[in-house]
Parts: sequence; C-alpha cells; structure tokens
Amino acid sequence: MKTNLFGLFQEEIAEHIREHKLEKYRAKQIAEWMYRHHASSFSEMTTLSKKMQAVLEEHFVIERVTCVRQKVSADNKTIKFLFSFADGETAETVLMRQPYGNSVCLSTQVGCAMGCLFCASTLAGLKRNLTAGEILSQLLYVQKILGEEEQHVTSIVLMGSGEPLVNYDNVVRFLRLCHEPYTMGLSYRSMTLSTCGIVPSIYRLADEELPITLSISLHAPNDEIRSEIMPINRKYGIDEVLRASEAYYEKTGRRITYEYTLIDGKNDMISCADELVRRLRGQNANVNLIPVNPVPERGLNRPSLTRINRFCSYLQDHKIQTTIRKEMGTDIDAACGQLRNQYLKQKK
Ligand code: SAH
Repeated sequence: MKTNLFGLFQEEIAEHIREHKLEKYRAKQIAEWMYRHHASSFSEMTTLSKKMQAVLEEHFVIERVTCVRQKVSADNKTIKFLFSFADGETAETVLMRQPYGNSVCLSTQVGCAMGCLFCASTLAGLKRNLTAGEILSQLLYVQKILGEEEQHVTSIVLMGSGEPLVNYDNVVRFLRLCHEPYTMGLSYRSMTLSTCGIVPSIYRLADEELPITLSISLHAPNDEIRSEIMPINRKYGIDEVLRASEAYYEKTGRRITYEYTLIDGKNDMISCADELVRRLRGQNANVNLIPVNPVPERGLNRPSLTRINRFCSYLQDHKIQTTIRKEMGTDIDAACGQLRNQYLKQKK
C-alpha cells in the first residue's frame, strides 16, 4: 500500500520522506508542487532529481478528486462540479463568482445523516466522512481553473453536502491546512462553517482559536417547527443552539449568521418572524433568508415573493439585520445534493 501525501502538512510529509533519506527541505518543495502547482505525479516535480522522483513514486501517491460531472449556469457565474474520490464515492462543489470575489462551497461528507426535511443531500443517508485531503482537493481543483484565468478563490463556505461538525477532526484539519502559505494561504476570516447545530462541537470550535465565521442553520423560531424540519433539534433544542452561538460570538468576536430557509406555509408566517425577533433581540447577529430550493421528493414549496419580502421587512423593522440570499445557479441544480442524486439515479 502506498501512502497518500495529499492532505498532509509539510511537517508530516517531512516525516514520511525522511525514511527514504530525503532531506527536510524537500518536503516544502513537494508540498508546493502538490498544493500550489497542482502536480498529480512526482515526475512533474522537476526540482527533484529523477532518482528522488522514482523513490517517491515507489512509496507514495497523490490522491486528487476527478470531475465526473460539471454544470455551468446560463449566466456563466456559477459552476457546479460533481467530484469523485479514490473509492468512487461522489460529492458536490460549487463555484460562485460574485461581485466581491470568488466563493467556493465545499462538501464535508458523502451524503448526510442529519435528515433535514428540505435538503437533498440527506435523502440517501450518510455514506462516509471526507478526509481533510478530500476537502482540500475540491478546493484546489476550483483554484486551478480560476488560476488559468489569473483569478483566485477569495472565500470558502462549508455548505455543501454533509454536517461539518460531525466530521470535526477532518474539518478542522482542513481549515488549518488551507490556511498554510504553501497551500492556499486563505485567511480564517474568509472561511465560513455552516452547521445544523451540534452544540458540544460549537463550544469546542470556539476554543480552537480559528477566527472563522459560524453560520447556524436555524430555519425555525421554536422547537415545535424546528424539530419537524430538522430532526437534530430533538437532540439539541433551539435554546441550547442559541446559547452556544452566543458563546461562540463572545469567545471569538465573530458575528454569527443565522440561516433561515423559507418554506411556504411551514415557517414563513408573520407569527414566526415575530417569535424570531424575540429570540434574537439583543444578539449581535444577522439573518440570511433563503427561499427554499424546491426538492420534488419532499413536496416543499417556495413562498411567494410577497411573503418572502414581508418576512424580511418584519425582521428589519424590528432591528434584526436581515438579507435575502441572492440566488445563483438554480438552473443547474445548485441546491445541496441535487446533482449527485441525479447522477446516482442515472448510474442505476
Ligand atoms: N449541514 C450544514 C451544512 C450544509 S447545508 C448545515 O446544516 O448548515 C448548508 C445550507 O444550505 C443550510 O443552511 C441549509 O439549510 C441550506 N439548504 C439545504 N438545502 C436547501 C434547499 N433545498 N433550499 C434552500 N436551502 C437549502
């Protein structure tokens, strides 16, 4: 079995190659070839001798994602990728070209176990966690494309398939890895982690001293509605989630974003907006309203524009900072999990 070097820190690469008599500074070169120059074989690493390349080839591999499907939106601003990993499992990644920069939405698991009613990623359950290398490889694939246009990734959001906080170690490792100057050198402030509210892990994350933005998928103003939409709420109720979020803000100084997917007749009533105002009053937070991307399997519909605007105005009138998510790529099934589901159906 050859060892996969992709996903390792430079120091770890140094450990591995030491056994084969390669000096420590070679690890930096290898890391840069892999992560900055997108090398997928050792023979591309021309600053290493042919002999070194052969030794590396014998003991190590570089595992990257391969792209099995790609969809470009009509306006060319959004590209959705379906990537395949070494074992043939697949997950989605989305590039969104926005006025303020290029944002990439990454998956952290193959499928998802959380069972949220409106989410296509969870329909077939959880397959497995993704490793830090597999998450980084999604990002670098997109960076390579942008690099060819002399552009780069300016921010990342962990909002693809999976619940990042149930894959905690791999996800935190990934965040640290893509901050390294020899990979992407991304600042923590341009990273956003979105969670359905795994309370103990929110506290743990607050202690990591990673000043990333935390996004909480709230989607309802009370336990009754939230538990109906999000099964995880039966384990970690809304009070606990809000307390953990406040603690995160206090510890990190990073303002929390609450995501609220608007579903017609379920959570878009003014009574819900009013309850939300009461819950969030006094918190330094903002609310991001997301008109639900219909998932035909679940029969959930998007509210009318009038209802969406009415909900938004109610929050704003009560001094809650609120935005409506700009929609990108609805013509290419950019909602979580939809492209993969189609692919799996066709493969059958
Ligand atoms: N598990 C994490 C991250 C993945 S979901 C979480 O729950 O936050 C990322 C965001 O996409 C969540 O806020 C989720 O509510 C939203 N989302 C998923 N499916 C959607 C759909 N069909 N329409 C609108 N938003 C959706």
